[in-house]
Amino acid sequence: MSAVGTVYLVGAGPGDPGLLTARALELLATVDVVLHDKLIPVEALDGVRSDAQLIDVGKIGGGEQVPQEVTEALIVEHALAGRSVVRLKGGDPFVFGRGGEEAQACRRAGVPFEVVPGVTAGIAAAAYAGIPVTQRHVAAAVAFVTGHEDPAKPESQVDWPALAAFPGTLVFYMGVRQLGRISEQLIVGGRPADQPAAIVQRGTFPDQRAVHATLGTIAQAAEQAAVRAPAITIIGDVAALGEELAWRAEARPLAGVSVAVTRARAQASALAGRLRGLGAHVVEAPAIRIEPLDAQVPDLAAYDLLCVTSPNGADELLRRVLDARALAGPVIAAIGPGTARALAAHGIVADVVPDRSVAEALVEALRAVPVTRALIARAQEARDILPDALRERGAEVTVLPLYRTVAEPLDEAARAAVLGADYATFTSASSARFFHAAAGTLDGPRILSIGPITSDELRSLGRAPDVEAPVHTPDGLVDALLADVAARHR
Ligand code: SAH
Repeated sequence: MSAVGTVYLVGAGPGDPGLLTARALELLATVDVVLHDKLIPVEALDGVRSDAQLIDVGKIGGGEQVPQEVTEALIVEHALAGRSVVRLKGGDPFVFGRGGEEAQACRRAGVPFEVVPGVTAGIAAAAYAGIPVTQRHVAAAVAFVTGHEDPAKPESQVDWPALAAFPGTLVFYMGVRQLGRISEQLIVGGRPADQPAAIVQRGTFPDQRAVHATLGTIAQAAEQAAVRAPAITIIGDVAALGEELAWRAEARPLAGVSVAVTRARAQASALAGRLRGLGAHVVEAPAIRIEPLDAQVPDLAAYDLLCVTSPNGADELLRRVLDARALAGPVIAAIGPGTARALAAHGIVADVVPDRSVAEALVEALRAVPVTRALIARAQEARDILPDALRERGAEVTVLPLYRTVAEPLDEAARAAVLGADYATFTSASSARFFHAAAGTLDGPRILSIGPITSDELRSLGRAPDVEAPVHTPDGLVDALLADVAARHR
């Protein structure tokens, strides 16, 4: 049999995927098995190997949880079978994460392990709320405390009088419900009731919320604000700095809104990034992929018009043009601003760019341009509006298919994530068609279409879009989404 696999006890950070460590991402991309908790950034699992085994051992808010012994047994069992294992835990694995117990289980079983620390919630949630847990002249020490226990219980492991007297910041994990009793014990122990306190819910997530009060009033303030787990409570003078140093706009316009992006992976990141920046939870589920065709670009000097009808067309064309001087002759037309930007990225400023990215608009914009021979660089499957219109004008037209759009396989988890999202975005007819073919339905999310062609496709699939972007670009799509979210919350 194969050798024993290594177990990696990995911290996933507090929620913001940007706080995953480089080492965590590297291991996630390589191991055979990932056993993960509920409270991890969902994006953490994006980069796992497609044949890796994912096991959810988390619990849902106090609900059912895989018992710790079972989790430990699973870790050991997979490693002994020769598989490499990431045990992925929220925050840091050794801070209230039972990572120490899992390391002991590995040691007992003779399984080699490594520990990858993570950004712990007690520091990160505070920082994202503008609270430095230590500060010169304000707090020279910080204590991480579990708020899980009922302080009134005689068997409590926490020494409450000692904690009350602790000369520094107290950071409580867990125990939102014990907050009343915790603050009471601290005040009884001599901590001033007017000491600043703050509670940060879902720190570093797009829907993070912070509530500021004093030790004496924090429990009531948290209850009034309906604060729920996961939350971190910070008690000490530094908590007041959060009001001065808050740097992260709370309640961003798309906070709490999940949006599925179905465009090709290569193009999804700008749209996904903009949506994340607005606070959305983004589900990336590419429905399509661009597959270059084996096509040669003819001598461009023979043409007086070169039309490029998509950003992919621009990239695929210019990848094949080895000498930039070949482009000096023809008038160059882009179908819209996105394609013009893709050309500009290759150092080419289009001569003709209609505002609306549809073939009809390009036909219109070309009316004043004399054409005898035109070359159209485009996808294999595309409408023939443009070549037909140019031929009608008497031009000789060559259509040059440079790539085709093919379906990207959709796994069950991605399908469920898209159909369970608040919105699904479609930036092309092909992404709508291929997603529908793979998922079998478009029912569930509100459907956002980038423009009329995509909308027609959606209607022919039996699901008219709920929103069509007035401006047919990814930015226009985001603006339409913002308007729809705002209108529905009014
Ligand atoms: N190992 C984790 C802590 C696990 S205990 C770490 O190092 O962060 C679970 C508790 O962590 C929650 O009850 C909550 O108090 C805190 N927590 C985890 N993620 C959080 C977040 N994003 N915002 C606020 N608190 C969080």
